[in-house]
Amino acid sequence: MSAESPTLWCDTCDRSIDATALEDGNCPVCGNRVTTGKRQPLPWKFRLMIGATVVYLAWRLYQLIMWLSH
Ligand SMILES: [Zn+2]
Repeated sequence: MSAESPTLWCDTCDRSIDATALEDGNCPVCGNRVTTGKRQPLPWKFRLMIGATVVYLAWRLYQLIMWLSH
């Protein structure tokens, strides 16, 4: 582990990027901007959005089943 080269992370590719492989500070694979620092866990807002979507879909499915059963 070298302390001189920072860890770069591409959120789009979901992979770490070698700092020397950057193209104009962008990801050499997808071309999007990469973030510096260690890999972040899934943002809690993203988790919340997924959770809300799941609950919403489950509620809609429940309504659909109730509607079909009548
Ligand atoms: Zn990328």
